[in-house]
Amino acid sequence: MMRIPFIAGNWKMNTTVHEAEELVHDMLERLDRIEGVEKVLCPPFISLPTISELLKGSSIKLGAQNMHFEIKGAYTGEISPLMLRKLCQFVILGHSERRWYFGESDKIVNKKIKAAIENGLKPILCVGERLEEKEAGRTEEVIDKQVNRGLNNIKPTRNIVIAYEPVWAIGTGKAASAEQAAATINFIRNTVSKLWSKDIAQELRILYGGSITSSNIAQFIPQPEIDGALVGGASLRAEEFLSIVSQTAAIKGISLPAERGKL
Ligand code: PEP
Repeated sequence: MMRIPFIAGNWKMNTTVHEAEELVHDMLERLDRIEGVEKVLCPPFISLPTISELLKGSSIKLGAQNMHFEIKGAYTGEISPLMLRKLCQFVILGHSERRWYFGESDKIVNKKIKAAIENGLKPILCVGERLEEKEAGRTEEVIDKQVNRGLNNIKPTRNIVIAYEPVWAIGTGKAASAEQAAATINFIRNTVSKLWSKDIAQELRILYGGSITSSNIAQFIPQPEIDGALVGGASLRAEEFLSIVSQTAAIKGISLPAERGKL
């Protein structure tokens, strides 16, 4: 089963609209030309309309970093799936910064996944254990809960990407080892296989995220289980991100029919 490699850049709460525009300008042409990798940028909400215009006609897709699960209503400060559906294709849900700084439970993440799918958005579901959980040997238990609760009562779908992001590796410069990441990703695939089906589990892209840079991406991508990366800090630098995407394309070496922009 061929899974198209996937690299997404999570810009988090960085870049003004002007800076976001500049960052896209710096990489647009070169990023567009890299084939065989699905490329997604996830800027802050406020930049989505501008960046969506800039990306029109390119092979680069757009994602949001979060959203509310309701379509509209009295939820001051929130953004709904209805507001996003015309602007972007993907939405990051359950990022550990949302879980731990904003108290998002698996139940909330589950409602968001449901709402995203109902509105034609593809969720990038993030799961990962904290340092104390890893040290207590509880990684699989934690991941099992996050996957099963996050996908509870969701109709099996290929339109979801999962990112394994150990919390201790995010923004710390201490990436997991490629072998450890691959083993946990294999565990996630088995969990989805039991919950949904072997066929769908084999088709889902499962990424690694946590301190990925242009210097360490080449350790992760050769692992057959690892289908790409969710990149935080390094996605804010054009040359870094381009290098991460082009190394991924070269290592996975998938040649596609010339259907630009239609991955
Ligand atoms: C992230 O925020 O999803 C992430 C992986 O961050 P970083 O690459 O900066 O560790």
